[in-house]
Amino acid sequence: MKKTHNDSLAPKKQEQVELADIFHLYADDYRQSHAVSYEQLKVMHHIEICRTAVLGGHVEQCDQCGFEQNAYNSCRDRHCPKCQTMTKEQWLNDRKAELLPCGYFHLVFTLPHDLNPIILSNKRTTLNILFAACQSNPSSLCQRSPVET
Ligand SMILES: [Zn+2]
Ligand SMILES: [Zn+2]
Repeated sequence: MKKTHNDSLAPKKQEQVELADIFHLYADDYRQSHAVSYEQLKVMHHIEICRTAVLGGHVEQCDQCGFEQNAYNSCRDRHCPKCQTMTKEQWLNDRKAELLPCGYFHLVFTLPHDLNPIILSNKRTTLNILFAACQSNPSSLCQRSPVET
């Protein structure tokens, strides 16, 4: 990825509050008063240590003038807002490139909240079932004749 003084090498605005700042202030209290899963703890930890001395550092160089500066390593967690801005934009652009030149409908499919514990502990299986049902329901509705009730 190309880096210049205009993007990642530019000093960050000091007044900008980041999720890591909020975690540093409140995460300990939150973890003590709420049930937090191991996966959630891991993500919180990654976000808290991202681009700090804990993860070590590397030298960044400007592609245009060769200017070098030290920078902390990032956590590369897919939930980390610092790491995922570029990835998210790339993903959005890739999905936009897949869109067909026609109208789209936004359909929302919900499940009873009682199923949440089952879904959380069997994500792959249950979400595959949900997506299969979401795909087949509109197809079968569209195939019905208008007078059918
Ligand atoms: Zn430069
Ligand atoms: Zn990160």
